Amino acid sequence: MDFSLDETQTAVRDAARRLAREKLVPRAKELDRTGGFPEESLRELGALGLLGVAVPEPLGGAGAGAVAYAAALMEVAEACASTSVAMAVTNMVAEQIVRFGTDAQKERFVRPLVSGAAVAGAFALSEPHCGSDAAALRTTAVRRGDRFVLNGSKQWITSGDRAGVIIVWARTGGEGPRGISAFVVERGTPGLTAGRPEHKMGLRGSSTVPLVFEDCAVSAGQLLGEEGQGFKIAMSALDGGRIGIGAQAVGLIRACLGASRRYARERKAFGEPIAERQAIRWKLADMAVDLAAAELLTFRAARLKEEGRPFTREASMAKLFCSEASNRATSQAVQIHGGYGYVDEFPVERYFRDARVQTLYEGTSEIQRKVIAREILK
Ligand SMILES: Cc1cc2nc3c(=O)[nH]c(=O)nc-3n(C[C@H](O)[C@H](O)[C@H](O)COP(=O)(O)OP(=O)(O)OC[C@H]3O[C@@H](n4cnc5c(N)ncnc54)[C@H](O)[C@@H]3O)c2cc1C
Repeated sequence: MDFSLDETQTAVRDAARRLAREKLVPRAKELDRTGGFPEESLRELGALGLLGVAVPEPLGGAGAGAVAYAAALMEVAEACASTSVAMAVTNMVAEQIVRFGTDAQKERFVRPLVSGAAVAGAFALSEPHCGSDAAALRTTAVRRGDRFVLNGSKQWITSGDRAGVIIVWARTGGEGPRGISAFVVERGTPGLTAGRPEHKMGLRGSSTVPLVFEDCAVSAGQLLGEEGQGFKIAMSALDGGRIGIGAQAVGLIRACLGASRRYARERKAFGEPIAERQAIRWKLADMAVDLAAAELLTFRAARLKEEGRPFTREASMAKLFCSEASNRATSQAVQIHGGYGYVDEFPVERYFRDARVQTLYEGTSEIQRKVIAREILK
């Protein structure tokens, strides 16, 4: 498989890199400290086409595909993991509407998403009682004439209080996956309220909220795909989303390797730079190997997706390996920095906190292993 980037992919990556280095790096520490929301950064990403990297150009996207998307997300995550999460979910939501939506839905929802006018997209699947077992969701959508009325609660919704466009999964039929449908709901729809943002260990510049639906009526034209097709849409979104988590993890590992290499050369102990110690060199070497493997797994899954080939197993492999590797790398980066790794004078403590969630969301490591095993036993 050829992993070199073509001209378009390189241009997208370079645009993301410039924005990341010039704007996102300087904002990242403050965003984490204050727990704000990267609205301005999202607008700037939108202006460069980076909120719809794989969305076709006629709908306002960059039309550059999954590989360019992964390359851009790596750059953004290296600068600011919180911003990369909002970017990733927005791309995912836009792509699902492009794939499953009607022409009217594409016109109404995709343009505002990719331009940044909708601020962000959100993906409302998890509920207070179920995350891994998403097919057990209880939110209902009952048809009344030409409307569906939604009732229920969602939990852990990234950008849920800021997003202008939210895909919401609800039960329109009986129990199990076949009873689930997906709806595109706009912010401000009567009956939809967002709860208090969670106080998180990391990703503090990303808003994570519960959503409550109380007799929230949407038009039948906001049903995404067919009735009963919702679970399939969610799983297809998560396959792509897992490439996004792989890319985020790559960004964090790169950031750790860069910070650790610099620090190891500068910091002296026992009369010489700690980079001279085998114990430190081996940590750097392990980090570099993890980074190379993480990049290859992520780009492999992205390339398969772009070529329209099956990629469920490869996306789960990338997500599993990269998220575990980013936890190893961020922990070792703190170790290399000694006491300075534990305070916010250096960014590695933030990387450590930001990486932790990667083995949890968009399917835990246990769920990725379940998916990979299922695929290889088919
Ligand atoms: C910061 C953050 C942002 C998030 N953003 C979103 C979002 O935007 N939209 C959204 O819908 N959700 C979101 N989530 C939810 C996230 O996807 C879930 O937390 C995740 O899927 C795990 O579900 P759970 O928390 O219910 O854990 P559970 O499913 O209760 O799992 C608990 C433990 O049991 C293990 N387990 C469960 N089932 C099995 C099994 N069959 N085999 C082996 N082990 C198993 C899990 O791996 C885990 O270790 C977010 C979560 C966080 C923390």
